[in-house]
Amino acid sequence: MSQTGIVFNVQRYTIHDGPGLRTEFFLKGCPLHCAWCSNPESWDPKIQYGVYSSKCIGKDACGACLEACEHPEALTFKKGRLARIDYSLVTDGKELYDACPSDAIKQWGYEMTVDECMKVVLKDKGYYERSGGGVTVSGGEPLLQSEFVADLFAACHEAGVQTCCESTFHVGWDAIERVMPVTDIFISDLKTMDTEMHRSRIGAGNELVLDHLQRVVDAGCDLILRIPVIPGVNDGMDNVRATADFILDRLHGRIRVLQLLSFMRLGVEKYQSLGMPYGMRGVKVEREAFQAHVDEIADYFCSRGIHCVVGTKERQ
Ligand code: SF4
Repeated sequence: MSQTGIVFNVQRYTIHDGPGLRTEFFLKGCPLHCAWCSNPESWDPKIQYGVYSSKCIGKDACGACLEACEHPEALTFKKGRLARIDYSLVTDGKELYDACPSDAIKQWGYEMTVDECMKVVLKDKGYYERSGGGVTVSGGEPLLQSEFVADLFAACHEAGVQTCCESTFHVGWDAIERVMPVTDIFISDLKTMDTEMHRSRIGAGNELVLDHLQRVVDAGCDLILRIPVIPGVNDGMDNVRATADFILDRLHGRIRVLQLLSFMRLGVEKYQSLGMPYGMRGVKVEREAFQAHVDEIADYFCSRGIHCVVGTKERQ
C-alpha cells in the first residue's frame, strides 16, 4: 500500500521552485506562520473549507448549506450571502461543501497516494528530461509528512526523476534525515538572523532552522537558500550583514545560490475566506524604491562573494 499525503495543490510546469520544468505538490500543515505567507490554507494539517462570499447564490434563493448544517447558527450571512463559518461549532465542513451548488465553499486539501502522485508525475517525464527539471514538494511544511515525501521521492528516483524538497527546516532532524537519501536539492529560507523578530513575525525562534541549515550543508546536500525580503522585518543592513556572515562562516559559502524574493501582497483573499487575520495588513510598499533596495541587498551579498540573484530564474 502506498503512503497517503494531504495535498492542497498540484501544479504542473512550474519554473520557480527548483531547476527546469517541474511538477509541484503543495502539502498541508506548517509549524510556522509567517505574517506575509501567501498560502494560509497550508497552515492547518487537516482538510479545511473556506468561504468565497461573492460566489454565494444567496440564502433565500439557495440556502442548501443551512439545510445541510447541524449548527445553522454557525453560518453568518451578510446581505444574504454566506460570509463566515464558525469552526468552533462546525468541526467538519464537508457536508456544507457537498451541499453547496456554487463554488462559495472551497475545500482546501485532499488525500493523494504516492501512486496517484506518480501518475501525474510520469505524464511530464519528457519535459523534465529536456529542461533538467523534476518534482518539487512544498507547502506548508512538507516534512510534517516526511514518510509520504520519502516514499514519493523514492518512486521518483526509481523512475529517473529528479527531486527537490522546499522545507522551512523547522522540523525534527529525523524528518530531514528520512528524505535526505532521496532528495537531490533542498530549498530553504533564511528569513532573519534576529531570533526575536523570527519569533514574533514567523512564530518561533530561528535556532532550529540555522542549526539544520548547517547540518544539511555539512552533510554535503545541494541547497538553494532563499530570503523573502520583507519591509521592516529583515531588510535592514545589519540583518543583511549578519546573514552574509552566517552563510560564509557556518555554511562555508556552500550553497547553490541565494535567491532574494521581494515582498508581495499575495493570498489576502484566502485569509478572508478562512476568517483569518492577514499579518501584513497596512504594510504598503512603494514598488520601484523597494525593488531598488532589494537590488542593493543583492549587490551586497555578491560583494561578499555569495552567488545571489533577485527572483528565482537563474539557479543553475
Ligand atoms: S449552499 Fe452555497 S450558494 Fe447556497 S447559500 Fe450556502 S454558500 Fe450560498
